[in-house]
Amino acid sequence: MRVGVFGGTFDPPHVGHLLVASDACEALALDRMVLVPAGTQPLKAGAISAPADARLAMTRLLADGDPRFEVDPIEIDRGGLSFMVDTLGALTGRWNGAELFLLVGADVLASFDRWRDPERVRRLATLVVLTRAADPTAAEAAHATDVDHALIGGPPQRLRTRRVDVSSTEIRSRVRAGLSIRGFVPESVADFIESAGLYR
Ligand code: ATP
Repeated sequence: MRVGVFGGTFDPPHVGHLLVASDACEALALDRMVLVPAGTQPLKAGAISAPADARLAMTRLLADGDPRFEVDPIEIDRGGLSFMVDTLGALTGRWNGAELFLLVGADVLASFDRWRDPERVRRLATLVVLTRAADPTAAEAAHATDVDHALIGGPPQRLRTRRVDVSSTEIRSRVRAGLSIRGFVPESVADFIESAGLYR
């Protein structure tokens, strides 16, 4: 069993997340993709604006209907600061015998050496660095840069994902400005944001 682990603040989750998760399932031949909404991220604390229960509910709506996707509230349930090493340790127990693939954005990788116990993170999961490209099927496999190699103590696996020019930041500011977010998020997520009055 090959299981992808895709963490994020999901504040809110959007179609970019959905397409990345789906591309990764195909490219890495994953059986499952576990979406893990962050509790309080040590390196992003203070930047989260929707409450954890709302981010969890929206992530479930995003994953709804795709049998490959699963949402794990492990970081939110654990409370306190979320360290990926603790999350992977728990997921290893839960997915006994599975091979874990941790998807990380290139932006996130830049702070990898400041993560708690990066060596153990690497032992628990294969790191897959997401690189945005115009077309993942046309892109040749990218070679790891020396910088990334040194940073994570070994060659990272790279995954070219398609470019989807959508971010949670843009969605939050569109809501604040009273603009429509239809198409940026599934309809169920847009409805949730509207009825909960998030991001205004
Ligand atoms: P924010 O705008 O609040 O920083 P975000 O849209 O980047 O949020 P996160 O929840 O922080 O969303 O993202 C989780 C992961 O998803 C990150 O590793 C990020 O690289 C990746 N990701 C987010 N948006 C996209 C996108 N449009 N295309 C590809 N990957 C994305």
